[in-house]
Amino acid sequence: MKQSSVIGAGIVGLATALALQESGRQVVLIDRLPPGEGTSSGNAGIISTGAVHPESMPDIWKEIPGMTLNRTAPLRLRPGYLLQFLPWLFRFLRNANTETAERASIAISALSHSALSHFEPLLREAGAEHLMRQHGTLYIYETQAQFAKAKEECAYRDRRGVDYQLLDGAELLKLEPSLSAGLAGAVFTPNSAHTISPLALSRKLFEMFQQRGGSFIQTQVQGFSCDGNRVTEVQAERPIKTDEVFITAGAYSKRLAKKLGSHVPLDTERGYHLMLPHPGIVLHHNLLFPVLGFAATSMEAGLRLAGTVEFAGLDAPPDYSRARHLAKRAATVLPDLQTEGGECWMGYRPSVPDSIPVISASPHFENAYFGFGHGHLGLTQSAITGALLVALADDKETPVDCEPYRIDRRW
Ligand SMILES: Cc1cc2nc3c(=O)[nH]c(=O)nc-3n(C[C@H](O)[C@H](O)[C@H](O)COP(=O)(O)OP(=O)(O)OC[C@H]3O[C@@H](n4cnc5c(N)ncnc54)[C@H](O)[C@@H]3O)c2cc1C
Repeated sequence: MKQSSVIGAGIVGLATALALQESGRQVVLIDRLPPGEGTSSGNAGIISTGAVHPESMPDIWKEIPGMTLNRTAPLRLRPGYLLQFLPWLFRFLRNANTETAERASIAISALSHSALSHFEPLLREAGAEHLMRQHGTLYIYETQAQFAKAKEECAYRDRRGVDYQLLDGAELLKLEPSLSAGLAGAVFTPNSAHTISPLALSRKLFEMFQQRGGSFIQTQVQGFSCDGNRVTEVQAERPIKTDEVFITAGAYSKRLAKKLGSHVPLDTERGYHLMLPHPGIVLHHNLLFPVLGFAATSMEAGLRLAGTVEFAGLDAPPDYSRARHLAKRAATVLPDLQTEGGECWMGYRPSVPDSIPVISASPHFENAYFGFGHGHLGLTQSAITGALLVALADDKETPVDCEPYRIDRRW
């Protein structure tokens, strides 16, 4: 039986490991942390089946000048990180044009559209259906000008065939009575879902992985031993012999991919959450405030405010004032929200400058594969990524054309 190694036991690694087992392989999952405890534990929990917009939308440049000035702005670049960040920023801005955004939108939508149908069998088999709700997402806008722009950008949803409804302020308030009166309106995508605990979801998937005979090694991966164009061993505390290797190490994948000769402009959009244990309100849908830069999701353990983007790399300490500031921002749109006792968290979105994840065979090694760079949509796109990686490894026809996700595309 083929022995596969999956490096990184976040939601993408877990989904990949399960897909590999399904295809009859013996799988070793490797992570320095317990499964699911990295970035995948702290997200907003949304399966955004209607996601179609890349981050590099054509007018994003307007936000760049303000992003070094205000420490708690939704989009922030720490001044000390500027020099290191410039090559990524340059590529990101080069992608911010209509033609490239359209191409990215097609690639993103191809994954997000069937995200839930790839999750469902996993949820069933793992006994994790109770962790998922399908109540839809409300993208909420405070002013008429913001809402008018959002309506224009619905042209992307129209072209991708995404089901959505436009709601005015009164209709919005009827659907979600905890919101302030006087908001301009919302775009409602009824088919999105959310989990009430991203960490419990990962743990359930891991239990299923173990029940199917998978093994887990908690260790830091340093690199690889190779024989010609084949990877033969994963180098860690103790070497792990392998027939094939899958790199799903989130924001840390750049270092590992480089060891296999692939150079990827992967950086991290650090994000924060504030988990409110006694919020005093329950939301019926998950709420996204694109301009304020956060999501609000009612979860098992309270209400999670999650979002913001901070460019500061992998090594700088967290700035939890950004997480605490989420409470202030949320209070402007959720007047009855109680924010005492909030717990702060930071995680590393693995982000590439074109918002298109890497789901790819290695161009240099015949038994190495990559699944990372999902940015804001890693939970959403995890299950389909696993399925695609296994199809690539088996040289089978993939349900989605994988050309746009290649690691050796023009960056
Ligand atoms: C605030 C916030 C909100 C978000 N909201 C959403 C949302 O609502 N919906 C959505 O779809 N996405 C969301 N995301 C994005 C999503 O969380 C990420 O894209 C996703 O978790 C990435 O999963 P991953 O498995 O690739 O990475 P991770 O979860 O980071 O897992 C990678 C794992 O690799 C391990 N690793 C790395 N290097 C090594 C090494 N050398 N040796 C051993 N182990 C290693 C790490 O320990 C880690 O456990 C959000 C992100 C943030 C920060």
